[in-house]
Amino acid sequence: MSRPIQASLDLQALRHNLEVVRRAAPRSRVWSVVKANAYGHGLDRVWSALGATDGFAMLNLEEAILLRERGWKGPILMLEGFFHADELPLFDKYRLTTSVHSNWQLKALAGAKLNAPLDVYLKINSGMNRLGFTPERVHSIWQQLKAIANVGQITLMAHFADADRPDGIDAAMVRIEQAAEGIDAPRSLSNSAAALWHPQAHFDWVRPGIVLYGASPSGQWRDIATSGLQPVMTLKSEIIGVQTLKPGDTVGYGSRYRAMGEQRIGIVACGYADGYPRHAPDGAPVLVDGVRTGIIGTVSMDMLTVDLTPCPQAGIGSPVELWGNEIKIDDVAAACGTVGYELMCALAPRVPVSTR
Ligand SMILES: *Cc1c(COP(=O)(O)O)cnc(C)c1O
Repeated sequence: MSRPIQASLDLQALRHNLEVVRRAAPRSRVWSVVKANAYGHGLDRVWSALGATDGFAMLNLEEAILLRERGWKGPILMLEGFFHADELPLFDKYRLTTSVHSNWQLKALAGAKLNAPLDVYLKINSGMNRLGFTPERVHSIWQQLKAIANVGQITLMAHFADADRPDGIDAAMVRIEQAAEGIDAPRSLSNSAAALWHPQAHFDWVRPGIVLYGASPSGQWRDIATSGLQPVMTLKSEIIGVQTLKPGDTVGYGSRYRAMGEQRIGIVACGYADGYPRHAPDGAPVLVDGVRTGIIGTVSMDMLTVDLTPCPQAGIGSPVELWGNEIKIDDVAAACGTVGYELMCALAPRVPVSTR
């Protein structure tokens, strides 16, 4: 047997989560967002479980080409468009829909030699000030795009900075309405948070990412606890060593944890080189032999340590869930001051992955 760490992916949960999105946004088509190697799950492993989607959205040309080579014939949206004009022949060859967020991209489109026009997502800066045209420029950009023979259907696209808050899209919606005035085009505005919580922003296409993988757009599991979403990724390992500490004994690098009294601890085959966050604090939740306990001491490259006080029956070989159905990835992330997105995207290539 090899090192006991393993990630397993519940493909049925992925299918189910896409259904949850469809029920939440019944009148919209769905771009399933599979950027960052499907949020760390592995695009090649998961895309066919999302085969009921209307399209896939991502950033990397390599990932888009992989989907075409695997036989996906439906729409593919490149969320940040082409990064250089010399990518356009590949957008043409593989029939990719491109976002357009900067002036130079119009010139590149106008000057390219394409076999057929490309559909374009005209990106509006909703106030997030990442990519996109300010509202007052959108009408003119739309007219310029319409005049380019290489441009097919134009969709208005925007992204929300605060859709996880109840009033979080109000200001952005004002800007988007201002930008869209007098433009007869489909719209795609909603990420996961808006798809779940802001029906007024659904329009023609929603673009869920994180909810497909069963984690919360707000970073708080309680916000999706009743949504029916199911975690897709489980990260498991085992106890490979046990120590009994005496009062005053310390654990791990920097001796961050010090035992108050006698205490049994377990050493788990999982470290930051597997993608577990190094800055996880004492008490970050973990499941050992079916019992909820906490990690203690600084996470090492290949190991971390857990308190066995609540589970005296546990010992070498006991199963450990780092995150999954019982220990929500959102709860681990929240303990570590981050969001589930970062943890799943950081799953290290050395962790073997199985699907079920
Ligand atoms: C990542 C991304 C999404 C999906 O965001 P989630 O919060 O994961 O749903 C949607 N649209 C764009 C432009 C993105 O970059």
